[in-house]
Amino acid sequence: MSLSRYLIESSTRCPDRVAVCQPWDGASITYGDLGTMAAGLRDWLAAAGVSRGDRVGVFLPKSIDAVACLHGVLQSGAAYVPIDPDGPITRNTFILADCSVRVVILDKRFESRFRDHLAKFNDPPIVVALDLDAGGLKRFLDENIASETPVCDSAANDLAYILYTSGSTGVPKGVMITHENATSFVDWCADTFAPTAEDRFSSHAPFHFDLSILDLYTSAKVGAALVLVSTDVGKEPIGLARLIAETKITIWYSAPSILSLMAQFGKLADYDYSALRFVLFAGEVFPVPHLRSLKQQLPHPRYFNLYGPTETNVCTSYEIPTAIADDRTDPYPVGKACEHLQAKVVDPSGAVVAAGEAGELCIAGLSVTPGYWNLTEQTRAAFLGNGASEDDRAWYRTGDLVVEQAGGDFVFRGRRDRMIKRRGFRIELGEIEACLHEHADVLEAAVVAATGDDESIKVIAHLATRDGERLSMIKLKSFCVQKLPAYMIPDVFEFHARLPRTSTDKVDYQSLQSPPAPSPQAASRTMPVQDATR
Ligand code: AMP
Repeated sequence: MSLSRYLIESSTRCPDRVAVCQPWDGASITYGDLGTMAAGLRDWLAAAGVSRGDRVGVFLPKSIDAVACLHGVLQSGAAYVPIDPDGPITRNTFILADCSVRVVILDKRFESRFRDHLAKFNDPPIVVALDLDAGGLKRFLDENIASETPVCDSAANDLAYILYTSGSTGVPKGVMITHENATSFVDWCADTFAPTAEDRFSSHAPFHFDLSILDLYTSAKVGAALVLVSTDVGKEPIGLARLIAETKITIWYSAPSILSLMAQFGKLADYDYSALRFVLFAGEVFPVPHLRSLKQQLPHPRYFNLYGPTETNVCTSYEIPTAIADDRTDPYPVGKACEHLQAKVVDPSGAVVAAGEAGELCIAGLSVTPGYWNLTEQTRAAFLGNGASEDDRAWYRTGDLVVEQAGGDFVFRGRRDRMIKRRGFRIELGEIEACLHEHADVLEAAVVAATGDDESIKVIAHLATRDGERLSMIKLKSFCVQKLPAYMIPDVFEFHARLPRTSTDKVDYQSLQSPPAPSPQAASRTMPVQDATR
């Protein structure tokens, strides 16, 4: 089954049902019209020479047009590559060039900046610039009618999309997801949560984030409505809490951080949430005090902790019990493996650990990625056994340390590497370091993360400069903004004459991790930096 089939079937079965709505301007589209738009794009892409196995970049803000584009690309047999519209243009063009997209569909507002970077492509892509304020995709298709082509019947192993995540070597890496990977997950969601055409799914995660797959395709599979949440409202707890109630969302899915904010500041008592049936969260640990507070204010829905990296999508799940004990502080388990997957916990040699011992969680099964785009070595390292046997090659190493409890639920204990999560976004601290090393005045850079009193994650960059002078915070911040997404910009920069070293002359991350005893001198060395503005 190909991922494009869900929309095709729903647009025939229930053409008049609302497929997607855009609460910010009241626009909505039916399954019939969404199917027509996606088919129109498929025809145009085929006429432009796009065929099975190609890649197409979708560089659009969240919108009905963007949803239609994802489906249209899938129907053409190409894989879509969703681009963060708020990300730096250098990073975005790196991604599009890395996977040699044949076509880029972008918002007209990004066109000139993107064209300035076309030199990065060996074979520059066709650029389709949509004016979203003046007809967008529909107008483009009306003005560029192509002859009808059949839907490409993608094979299970063809790529459906590539999601770029932070890479420890300093550049993002593309996680390849096949049609079978994606449909096995969507089918699991449909079986587990049994949504119906009456449901209204939230679309909170951006389309370059793997949480978006549940919303986009589980809704399309059952003919339910998808309620798009704009980036701005998505960060703002009061407006978001109101939106969930007013748009009568029945299935909510997001990272825990925004749910924590809504529990604290969302004024939930002011609204009626009787429509809400499920609150699903994933991407990071949900601190129990905030989860408890949310459940006390919204006791009616069922809550699920979903866990998994982009490389597998959700691979374990756990239903949060109805009542959370007052004295509980430990986060809830991430649960048991989903039915379409297998899980095991291994030691550093790859051997399964004894019951109850901590080890690395490895996952095999239908939704596990075939690997990273064009990165053979990183793909090899991501699987157990370094290719020793067919069975070993099937086990994806999550990098997450877990313990299996007596009842079979896994408890998340942290990472074995330097990847962190911040507001649900995945960050390789090495990518931030690589960015800082590109600064002409930086001699050494080491980046660590710390948890603040309010449970939020702070990113701290330790720097030694070539001339020993501190760098201007504003300039450093502007430098990072050119290269990194906002969620990766360090909160704090600390300057050192030289970074501390271990006896083997490596950067001593452990001493950087433990904050020095506060002293007036130390306090003056730590300069918090406001959130990046662009
Ligand atoms: P991403 O690839 O962005 O989805 O990030 C995947 C990583 O996020 C996992 O490897 C975990 O470290 C973390 N993660 C995902 N879901 C959860 C969860 N429910 N609880 C704790 N950590 C999680």
